[in-house]
Amino acid sequence: MPGNTLYIVVPCYNEEEVLPETARRLGDKLRGLMAAGKIGPDSRVLFVNDGSRDGTWAVIQRLHREDGLFCGADLSRNRGHQNALLAGLMTAKDKADLVISMDADLQDDVDAADAMVDKYLDGVDIVYGVRSSRKKDSFFKRTTAEAFYRMMDLLGAETVFNHADYRLMSRRALDGLARFTEVNLFLRGIVPMIGYRTDTVEYERGERFAGESKYPLKKMLAFALEGVTSLSVRPLRMITGLGFLVFLASLAMIAYNVARWATGNTVAGWASLACSVWFIGGLILLSLGIIGEYLGKLYLESKGRPRFLIQELLEDGGEQPDAGQTP
Ligand code: UDP
Ligand code: MG
Repeated sequence: MPGNTLYIVVPCYNEEEVLPETARRLGDKLRGLMAAGKIGPDSRVLFVNDGSRDGTWAVIQRLHREDGLFCGADLSRNRGHQNALLAGLMTAKDKADLVISMDADLQDDVDAADAMVDKYLDGVDIVYGVRSSRKKDSFFKRTTAEAFYRMMDLLGAETVFNHADYRLMSRRALDGLARFTEVNLFLRGIVPMIGYRTDTVEYERGERFAGESKYPLKKMLAFALEGVTSLSVRPLRMITGLGFLVFLASLAMIAYNVARWATGNTVAGWASLACSVWFIGGLILLSLGIIGEYLGKLYLESKGRPRFLIQELLEDGGEQPDAGQTP
């Protein structure tokens, strides 16, 4: 059986309180999966320390010393959840055949990993962990988070509803991800762009095992903004739309003003002033929108995203490309 090496990647920022428990559960999970013959013996848990200010890295070092199942990567400074996750995924990519990413706080149900691995063994490349309910989140977190997904949708950023960063990716999906070289990273939006066979696994989202959320409202808003602006140029297009509307309205206003003026119902100078305010306003917005269209194109070009990824190739004289997952 070639490989089927699983890496579980866990970004950690000030998580010293939860890490020992997280490590215990993930360690048990890996050993269970190994014993069941579903994953290879070289499987590991990779903790990424995202420049924590507490003793997180010391905990990771201790875990690694005590048990070879755990390894760690220490970022040079705090780079934020998405970058820490990417660092972990890219580190694991060359060693693993499949990678599961999850948060350190045990909010994501560790047991959902079994179903993910099963789907992978059936040939699925990306398995999204989707929260079946948010009963355990506070009312505030739940409503803001759901508003977040709705707003993303409205602004043209496609994401998987109620999916955070708990997901399984095959090596070739990770190779695809590696070709997205953008700096403004919003993994939840980029992963669906990769394609290949995808599936979802539902799980109940639990409460944080210990410690506090590292995503206060301020960070969540920044995250939402990052998501929209890094995935979609629809806000720019909205300016064009608005400009067009105001321009149309200006035509109507001009007709109205001229009618008022013709019937002598105006103060001297009002009609021409009102007309030019509307007309120039519309023109400015429309021009901004046109500039926005080009800016949007330029923005997307600058990301240098792959334009295609080939799933399978049928050629003469070669073996079928190995999807790398059939045991
Ligand atoms: N995290 C990180 N860097 C940061 C902030 C958070 O690596 O700058 C990690 C954190 O340790 C956790 C995950 O990202 O594993 C999600 O954070 P958290 O659970 O606090 O977010 P919430 O679930 O409250 O949205
Ligand atoms: Mg959490």
